[in-house]
Amino acid sequence: MAGVADRVALVTGAAQGIGAEVARRLAAGGAKVAVLDLDLGAAEAVAAEIVAAGGSALGVAADVSKRDQVQAAVDAVVEKFGALHIVVNNAGVLRDNLLFKMTDDDWTLVMEVHLRGAFLVSQIAQKHMVAAKYGRIINLSSTSALGNRGQANYATAKAGLQGFTKTLAIELGPFGITANAVAPGFIETAMTAATAERVGGTIEQMREAVASTVPVRRGGLPADVANTVAFYAGEEAGYVTGQVIYVDGGAGLI
Ligand code: NAD
Repeated sequence: MAGVADRVALVTGAAQGIGAEVARRLAAGGAKVAVLDLDLGAAEAVAAEIVAAGGSALGVAADVSKRDQVQAAVDAVVEKFGALHIVVNNAGVLRDNLLFKMTDDDWTLVMEVHLRGAFLVSQIAQKHMVAAKYGRIINLSSTSALGNRGQANYATAKAGLQGFTKTLAIELGPFGITANAVAPGFIETAMTAATAERVGGTIEQMREAVASTVPVRRGGLPADVANTVAFYAGEEAGYVTGQVIYVDGGAGLI
């Protein structure tokens, strides 16, 4: 039972949605998990739930796009658990708009959170992984990396994360560190509920629309992503690096 047992993991944007499920999944596999999000109370609530289920967890507050906050969060995690082996760059925001209406702020915020956030967290964390000669970095991309109407900013960031992932795989591989990406399609969370609302529908309608078209005939759930992250995060996946797994029910095939 190697997997993620006794490893220390940091999951960003873990107060809800996919990140919270990833934190729960890694904790269930025996990892000590830092639940990082903007709001300390929300992060601590997920950590408390993990501890109540018999796991080991710590809530930490940080804006991933701010170097001083990320440094302080990583320091707190290492102080509490003594190491840092696994990072899941999951924190994300949407600021969807058609190109002709997209503002500078819409563009910049999405780049800051997804790209600068993954850069800062990975750069600050890798020092501890290099010291341990072991590490797993997992980045949340998206099917939108292939292009999506209304998401020029988000598609660019999610495609950028794939290039970032492959470069980390090359640079950090010699130190026992792998870097991989998960690219989900539609997953039911607050993020997709907000998207449904923006286009004048409901999450149920969106789920049905996806289910009627994708080969596996259902919408995606946070657990679908968490299972894939857990695979990459496990010790046994040490020869898998620089990869992108699409967790989209086969949406990309049709
Ligand atoms: P969500 O909106 O439910 O959760 C995102 C979390 O990130 C929130 O808790 C939020 O507070 C946190 N966050 C936002 N900005 C932050 C910052 N600057 N610093 C720290 N935390 C911050 O979203 P989700 O659906 O769970 O998505 C998680 C990740 O998966 C995102 O990167 C998203 O782009 C990606 N993704 C989601 C889907 C989907 O269908 N839901 C599909 C593809 C990719």
